[in-house]
Amino acid sequence: MREMSMYDHRKLGRELGLFDTDPLIGAGLPYWLPAGAIVRHTLEEYVRAIERRAGYQHVYSPVMGKRELYELSGHWAHYRDDMFPPMDLGGEQVVLRPSLCPHHAVIYRTHAHSYRELPLRIAELGGMHRAELSGVLGGLTRVRAIQLNDAHVFCTPEQVADEAAAALGLIRQAYAALGIRPVRYRLSLPGPGGKYVDEPEVWRQAPALLVDVLERSGVPYEAVDGEAAFYGPKIDVQIAGSAGREATLSTVQVDFYQPKQFDLHYIGPDGAKHRPVMVHRSIIGSVERAVAHLIELYGGAFPAWLAPTQLAVLPISDAELPHADALLKGTELRVEIIGPERGSLGARVRDTRLVPYVAVIGAREAADDHVALRLRDGRRLDPMPAAEALRRIGTFVDMHSLALWD
Ligand SMILES: [Zn+2]
Repeated sequence: MREMSMYDHRKLGRELGLFDTDPLIGAGLPYWLPAGAIVRHTLEEYVRAIERRAGYQHVYSPVMGKRELYELSGHWAHYRDDMFPPMDLGGEQVVLRPSLCPHHAVIYRTHAHSYRELPLRIAELGGMHRAELSGVLGGLTRVRAIQLNDAHVFCTPEQVADEAAAALGLIRQAYAALGIRPVRYRLSLPGPGGKYVDEPEVWRQAPALLVDVLERSGVPYEAVDGEAAFYGPKIDVQIAGSAGREATLSTVQVDFYQPKQFDLHYIGPDGAKHRPVMVHRSIIGSVERAVAHLIELYGGAFPAWLAPTQLAVLPISDAELPHADALLKGTELRVEIIGPERGSLGARVRDTRLVPYVAVIGAREAADDHVALRLRDGRRLDPMPAAEALRRIGTFVDMHSLALWD
């Protein structure tokens, strides 16, 4: 697998009908076309499924909130330069949210919690906004409207290290299914300057916890000053972006600050109130950046489970068209039938070069109810019963396999 991509996701995004932008909608506000929407939806459903299995509960919360919410969370004091200006509305000020954490902290405190309910894992694939300057905008990597794969784990101080390690484990599991290789793990620590909360105890405890998590996980890492969140240090999983530029895709963060700001608590075994710790984590980061990376990693030839079209069926002549239709009844694969009206067989095979599986159906295959599969990697399989071909492809898709065949 290549370390530095030879593809530009902006160019491929347009050529493959994945996404586009329009000056009338605005810079940094891409829209998703049907093929790109399939990739995005499939990725989102995959993430939700592994989160559900890992004990996360999903919520929805609005993409905006009152200015007071962000004053309490610390964003207004430490992160305002990256936020859209507030909107005046009936004597209140409302802002597009720069992160999901404050909403989730409020959701946590909607009712009292016992220590027995912890860790409480709240996840959301939610919208947020960043007031990027127009000069740096482009494609899906620098956008003003972001869909973030986010979650917050509310836990006891004793549970933090295990929860952070489990989050790192989920990231590694997702990377294996997606074929993404990190270039490095970064322990992001505070640097000089006033953008961090003035809480010496936070900055003493939290980095040591993350060092412990990294050491236990056995991944090599580098500590870098000046890259922490304003409320705490984080583990950043770095990938090679376009032109070799390094970018953060996934993060695990430990936060002692916002639980205090929102006065969160749980009732401990001693019957007294205790302060939970928040672990912020994102498995694939923003959907935009994740898909941009996948486009560049694969040049549009996505793993079968993510591919907009998983199987292309090419009837050699019109006579096999009804057979192609009948064959596909009931399959859940994303199939496209490309008939002779779209050109010669050779031209249609070339047009489907990014599709993982291509089934050619001639008179003999139609008569035998067989298909001859061509794999994207160039392999041509012997004709096999159509039902078996569909079932085998379905197995590779369900397994989130990177391999197309045995
Ligand atoms: Zn957060």
